[in-house]
Amino acid sequence: MFYRSFQVEKTIGSQCNTRRLLPKAPQNRFLREVAQELARFDQKKQWEFCCPTCLNYYSIESKDITEEHIIPESRGGKTTTFLCKSCNSFFGGKQTRCLSDWIEINEGKAPFHQDPKKQKTTLKSGKLKISGHLSIGEQKQLIFHADKNRSNPTDYSAFSRGENISSVTITTKIPVFENEQRLRVGFLTAAYGLWFKHFGYSFVFQSIYNIVRQQIMCPDEDIASWNFLIYNDLGRSINPTLGFMRFDVDYFPVAQIYDHIVILPNSKMRHPATTSFEKVSVKALELGEPIADRLQHRSIGPAVVLCDFQEIICPDFFKNTTVPPQIIWIDGW
Ligand SMILES: [Zn+2]
Repeated sequence: MFYRSFQVEKTIGSQCNTRRLLPKAPQNRFLREVAQELARFDQKKQWEFCCPTCLNYYSIESKDITEEHIIPESRGGKTTTFLCKSCNSFFGGKQTRCLSDWIEINEGKAPFHQDPKKQKTTLKSGKLKISGHLSIGEQKQLIFHADKNRSNPTDYSAFSRGENISSVTITTKIPVFENEQRLRVGFLTAAYGLWFKHFGYSFVFQSIYNIVRQQIMCPDEDIASWNFLIYNDLGRSINPTLGFMRFDVDYFPVAQIYDHIVILPNSKMRHPATTSFEKVSVKALELGEPIADRLQHRSIGPAVVLCDFQEIICPDFFKNTTVPPQIIWIDGW
């Protein structure tokens, strides 16, 4: 009997599979939840994923949905979010690489890259010009390593014989310091990705974030030209955290990304009227326990967050919403 009934179920199951029109629910909990949330915003979107930065839609089974580390994995970052493949690889070659370089230099033993390819150095002495790289020796002395392949052969052989060497000038270029704009956007991209991870589309579907997305998509241009970064001299962390901060009387969503606090727009204002020290509340509400528990489950969306009766997060990309928004109250301070 049991065997027969098993056979029947198996047949039904396989028939369903061949006639299935919708993709399977994804194995990944995050993807499953964001897809469910997306359907609450727009019932026509069943089992789809909307890339949080370019806002393009993909089937939830698409190979173009990729997991991205908010702090690069090469620097020890563990927290991940999801993006489309094209955004992920674009950021990886631009702003995320700068953020990675910044962390590498801050965590390293020398004030420059350990990888000679990243940190090109030139030594000049009279008419001699030699390419190479730098390292720090055991006695903390600066060592110049000449690179034969990148130097003029005549200059290199004169240099190796120690000829014509008098006073020397060493010039080094550290790419991240020449790309301050990209680095700023690297922090912004990480903060935006972290908020998407925790708040899903309730955070992304706010029109005030259009300018933030434009900035993320064009990391070399100065689009979000206000000051959204505060250096946090209290500490740095590889684990990014999110919270709220009060600037004078206005609350803003923030994220701590490595050694900076990134201030994101609230649903009404792109940025605080002032970030002067006296006006910034010393208390940053970390959305740790118990608030994070209530918010980390993305299936609750759409959600509106109010802090001290101010709207902090309020999605306005409603199309065919299937459920009314949930209101989340947070006490101000
Ligand atoms: Zn994308």
